[in-house]
Amino acid sequence: GNFVPPIRSNGGSSGNVTSRIGGKSDDTLDDSTRACLEMLCGPDGELPEKLRNLEPRLIEHVSNEIMDRDPNVRWDDIAGLEHAKKCVTEMVIWPLLRPDIFRGCRSPGRGLLLFGPPGTGKTMIGKAIAGEAKATFFYISASSLTSKWIGEGEKLVRALFGVASCRQPAVIFVDEIDSLLSQRKSEGEHESSRRLKTQFLIEMEGFDIGSEQILLIGATNRPQELDEAARRRLTKRLYIPLPSSEARAWIVRNLLEKDGLFKLSEEDIDAICKLTEGYSGSDMKNLVKDASMGPLREALRQGIEITKLKKEDMRSVTLQDFENALQEVRPSVSLNELGTYEEWNKQFGSLS
Ligand code: ADP
Repeated sequence: GNFVPPIRSNGGSSGNVTSRIGGKSDDTLDDSTRACLEMLCGPDGELPEKLRNLEPRLIEHVSNEIMDRDPNVRWDDIAGLEHAKKCVTEMVIWPLLRPDIFRGCRSPGRGLLLFGPPGTGKTMIGKAIAGEAKATFFYISASSLTSKWIGEGEKLVRALFGVASCRQPAVIFVDEIDSLLSQRKSEGEHESSRRLKTQFLIEMEGFDIGSEQILLIGATNRPQELDEAARRRLTKRLYIPLPSSEARAWIVRNLLEKDGLFKLSEEDIDAICKLTEGYSGSDMKNLVKDASMGPLREALRQGIEITKLKKEDMRSVTLQDFENALQEVRPSVSLNELGTYEEWNKQFGSLS
């Protein structure tokens, strides 16, 4: 029949978790939802206050889809961006590791904005923060709140902040935050997206004044769309620019070395860096992928069958492979766009 998982019972509290989440009857919850709620119960076996009036399926969605149990990115995986790493360490990681020291005058801001062209490592930084600060990482794309969760976005936002407060220290990473906190579109703005935005700002306000260890990181490629209220709450705003020449070299070397394919000379690497001015980190990754196909394509052209191909039959990846790949993989960010970021950085960015 109806499986009831074992309940941590603390003296008086008995029964199962479903009786403590706003009167939902047993039958409305399936086993996975119930198991998920059990995991969020406190030492007293009770569901925390904040979660009691939330819909169980949304809590489950946050726990299973939005919460990332193993972000698996370290600082060392991120090329360049020394300035951003330094700021983030001081502003975010130390306070999460030592909340007792970072109080009063030293209390950190609770909102961080990472802005810049797409594919430059903003999401990686978010994950690395969670990894380095031993915090739970929550990732949500704001555009999914407005598209996939139409009409339910507000409830999901409440569930997100609710679960995060039970999983402290926590980092909530909101990708494409501009689509949530954009400047009011005076007449055209939908009632539902206005409510969603208000709910989001209320939740942010809530943990700002509380003593909670929750950090909100917003990422955007369109910082100019954020309104004043959003800027005010995201107190630290870091520009994440395109990778420098050294960072591009590092990405090429690192990706090829991981697969044991690195045989390029220093001169080759220099040449690749010169040819990839304006490429983002993710463009570089695509370039390396394409270049590393060169030896394989050549072996197949010479008539070796793919099923019989041995690794030894393939030559190493050369500069020529990169030159060929450059015809296929073009930079995704235009000079024009870069100017916009730099302007916005001058006006609103945290320069130190
Ligand atoms: P963003 O969030 O800025 O759009 P991501 O952090 O998702 O970009 O990066 C996309 C991919 O590009 C990463 O998974 C990584 O492979 C590569 N990448 C981007 N920037 C860097 C970087 N600074 N160092 C190493 N890899 C990078």
